[in-house]
Amino acid sequence: MITVAPPPTRDYLSYSAVRAFQGCPLKYRFRYIDGLPEDCVSSSLVFGSAIHAAVEFFFSQQLAGEEEPSLDELLDVYQQSWRDRSEQEVRFGKTETADSLHQLADRMLTAFLASDLTKQEGRIIGVEEELRGELSPELPDLLGRVDLLLETDDSVIVQDFKTSRSAWNDYQAEDQSEQLLLYGELARRLVPGKQVRLQFAVITKAKTPKVQLLEASFDESKLDRTKRVFENVWSAIQSGHFYPSPSPMQCPGCGYRNQCAAWLG
Ligand code: SF4
Repeated sequence: MITVAPPPTRDYLSYSAVRAFQGCPLKYRFRYIDGLPEDCVSSSLVFGSAIHAAVEFFFSQQLAGEEEPSLDELLDVYQQSWRDRSEQEVRFGKTETADSLHQLADRMLTAFLASDLTKQEGRIIGVEEELRGELSPELPDLLGRVDLLLETDDSVIVQDFKTSRSAWNDYQAEDQSEQLLLYGELARRLVPGKQVRLQFAVITKAKTPKVQLLEASFDESKLDRTKRVFENVWSAIQSGHFYPSPSPMQCPGCGYRNQCAAWLG
């Protein structure tokens, strides 16, 4: 699940900042260098953050040894997350309204509470745990937040929450594992001698939501490749060469469309 990352500095870099630069260097500049607020934000981002907040609350209560939260309590956390965004214009999809999304949240959180995700393998050792460390001498430290950290007798599990339009398969879990690999690299320094496992907890945004737990492999060569990609992106960021990279995936939901149209280089 994506959280708003702090701006990168010479001291640290975040995965989401690197991904933002890869998506569109000019958008990266508006957000991370100029610090401009976005004119609007997509409903899928607000919705995903609100579901994430509710699930995070559930595990925080478990970590604190508190009673398991009810559906109503999770929905309160979800609603509060929406209220926290009340200052921003939210751009809805064609068939969506705030009410239809809230009904969807009710179904998704109901499915979550009925799923095995509420009874995780291992002991929870961190919720939204901040990890920081060096990936390469060529880079500032990586700073990241892990959704859920679990420990078993022989392993530490790094888990990421996702909401998705459709169910994932094993291939998608492997394909999307870059961020988890990097966080796994930082986590294994905390618990030397234990195997690091990477997992995605996925809840689908469907009429009947599906809850999945998928495992991705800790692929050392992919980790190494990701580090090289980060070194290249960091070098490009430092060169200060920011330009628009229009795409049908990025531009319709971009909150900087006005600034982009006015940008003259
Ligand atoms: S509108 Fe498109 S090209 Fe312009 S900043 Fe946004 S993502 Fe980049």
